[in-house]
Amino acid sequence: MKRFNPIKNIEKFRHSEDLGGVNPPISDSSTYTFSSGQQMLDTFHGEGEGNFLYSRHLSPSNLILSDALASMEGAEAGNVAASGMGAITSVLLELCEAGDHIVSSRTVYGGTYAFLKNFMAKLSIPTSFVDITSIEKIKEAITPKTKVIYCETLSNPLLEIADISAISALAKERGITLVVDNTFSPLLVSPIQLGADVVVHSLTKFINGASDTVGGIVCGSQEFIDRLRDVNTGAAMLLGMTMDSLRSASIMKNLQTLPLRMKQHSKNAMYLAQRFEKDGFKTAYPGLESHPHHELAKQMFRTEEIGFGGIVTVDLGSFEKANKVMSLMQERKIGYLAVSLGFYKTLFSAPGTSTSSEIPEEEQKAMGLSDGLVRFSIGLDSDIERTYEQIKACILEV
Ligand code: PLP
Repeated sequence: MKRFNPIKNIEKFRHSEDLGGVNPPISDSSTYTFSSGQQMLDTFHGEGEGNFLYSRHLSPSNLILSDALASMEGAEAGNVAASGMGAITSVLLELCEAGDHIVSSRTVYGGTYAFLKNFMAKLSIPTSFVDITSIEKIKEAITPKTKVIYCETLSNPLLEIADISAISALAKERGITLVVDNTFSPLLVSPIQLGADVVVHSLTKFINGASDTVGGIVCGSQEFIDRLRDVNTGAAMLLGMTMDSLRSASIMKNLQTLPLRMKQHSKNAMYLAQRFEKDGFKTAYPGLESHPHHELAKQMFRTEEIGFGGIVTVDLGSFEKANKVMSLMQERKIGYLAVSLGFYKTLFSAPGTSTSSEIPEEEQKAMGLSDGLVRFSIGLDSDIERTYEQIKACILEV
């Protein structure tokens, strides 16, 4: 069998509306003309072929970006959303109804955790949070009502790795839908190829890579994407988390450099992780042999073409120390003290008190998330040795 290659899929992707431009045409309409009332009626009943109805449903620019990202993930179809949370919430609300149950990794993005714990619970859809690296723990949490298993390929912020093939085999055996957030590992891992049913991304991060917008994508079967967009029942259509077409067009242009950026982020992250570890700093990175899931990462990640990703964490022991080091690094222009990831500059934050602060303190402790943990999204720096010397100086000075 020919090996699936998402990088080639991006390079080969050519939008179908070929007007000769090197970039796709940008659609700038909220609504679309029909040739007759009958055609309008047919289209609203899902029978009309090839006519756009209204941009909350779909626009040409959103379709182009959706198709490109679906092609990257090896999925049949995709649906862009106005944010990563828009993508995640529409998928979960589409798949579940009152009385259903979700099994989720306990180490997910804080917003996702809060949505599952607080919002879905209000709709009588409870979630059991488990250690996703243990198939036994997942099995124990499954009930006859479990509709979805939810996890991140490479978790935020602890960098745990979910064994997608093993989890998907379990999900298939029990008739449960596996939803995977692949935000930290675009191109590194293709969850649908490993058996996931639905993949979501926050485009805000690596995929757009410019820190100038929020965005999201859902990839899955054509049937599931059609379901999300159904005019009468679809969560994406009815909740209205629609991406603006102009934004879609700008993300589409940034997508083309994703393979190069991911390679450089990964190369720099590997260099820093190895040096930090040698210096005796408590460092976590999937590319390090000391990482508890390093062997799994070697099997699952496209390590030769890309590497092990752009996120490194260093535990500085206390929030006070982490705070001082981060302020100093910003002062010295090494990067920015900011949440988010995938920017050309290095971004750093202390997740325990920021992006994961929605997770209660005792649960943070149970999962091993300390206040002193600093998450680095490593930038595209051309002289990473210099960056290393600068960061090390800040850590040693505080
Ligand atoms: N998934 C992960 C892994 C994230 O880190 C984030 C945001 O930080 C999201 C989803 C949510 O994405 P957005 O901020 O685009 O809504």
